[in-house]
Amino acid sequence: MRLKDKVTLVTGATSGIGKAIATRFAAEGAHVAVNYLPVKQNAEVAEALAKSFATDSIAVAGDVSKRADVERMVRETVERFGRLDIAINNAGIEIKKPFLEATDDEWHKVIGVNLYGSFVVSQAAARQMVAQGGGGKLIYISSVHEDIPFPDNTAYCASKGGVRMMMRNLAIELAPHRINCNNIAPGAIATPINQAVLDDAEAKRNALTEIPWGRFGLPEEVASVAVFLAGDEAEYVTGSTYYVDGGLTQQVTLY
Ligand code: NAD
Repeated sequence: MRLKDKVTLVTGATSGIGKAIATRFAAEGAHVAVNYLPVKQNAEVAEALAKSFATDSIAVAGDVSKRADVERMVRETVERFGRLDIAINNAGIEIKKPFLEATDDEWHKVIGVNLYGSFVVSQAAARQMVAQGGGGKLIYISSVHEDIPFPDNTAYCASKGGVRMMMRNLAIELAPHRINCNNIAPGAIATPINQAVLDDAEAKRNALTEIPWGRFGLPEEVASVAVFLAGDEAEYVTGSTYYVDGGLTQQVTLY
C-alpha cells in the first residue's frame, strides 16, 4: 500500500477521472473525502462510493467554485480524520462555443470551476497543511489544453493554462512548507466529459488520428500517475506537468 492512512480530498469524484482516483487511492490505503457537486443523485453516488472502500472514507458535498463550500469540505475532512495530506483538484467543466458567440456567463462558469475552484481548494488545503505541519501534496488534473489550443473552447484552455501557471507558482511558494505541487495533463480519456465524441463514430475516428497510441486513455491510467505523485517516491518532484495522452501532444499534423 503506497498511501496508507493518507487523508485525501478528491474534488468532482463521482465520475470519470475523479472516481478512478478516489477508488485507486482507497485501494492504496488512503482515507478519501469523496467530493460531489450537490446536484440530483450525486449524493447517493458519493455515499455509495465512500462506503464501498476498504478504508474509512466519507462523502463531502460542495461546489468548488464557492469558497464557503470549499472551506466546509476541508473542515469536514479534518474533523473526521484529524488532518489533510493530499488534495486532488479534479473537478472541471467544458462549455464548447465559438469565441465570437461565447457569453460572459459561460466564461465565468468555466473559469469559476476550473481555475478559481483550483485556487480556492489549494488555498484551503494548503492552509490546513501548513497549520498541521509535515508537508502535503497538491495535484491538479489540468489538460493537454494547458498548453495546446482547442478551438471553440477558449475559456477551458484559458482555465487550464491558468492552472498550469498557478501550480508552478505554488511549487515555489509552498516549497518551504514541503508541499509538492504538480499537474497531470490528460489527453483524450474515455469519461462522461467526452461522451458526445465517444458516441459519434466519425468524431471518434477523427480524434483517434491525433493520438499516436491509437486509443482513448482510461481514467485508471490517470489515477496511477496520481498515486506516484502523491506518494513518498515523488518527494523531490514539484512544479511539473505529467502528460497522460498517448503521445497526443507530440503529434504534429503537417498535411
Ligand atoms: P467528468 O465530467 O466525468 O468529471 C468532472 C467531475 O467534476 C464531475 O463529477 C462533476 O460532477 C464534477 N464537477 C463539475 N463542476 C463541479 C463543481 N462546481 N464542484 C464540484 N464538482 C464539480 O469528466 P472527467 O473527464 O473525469 O474530468 C475530470 C477532470 O479531468 C476535469 O478537470 C477535466 O477538465 C480533466 N480532463 C479530462 C480529459 C478527458 O479527456 N476526459 C482530458 C483532459 C482533462
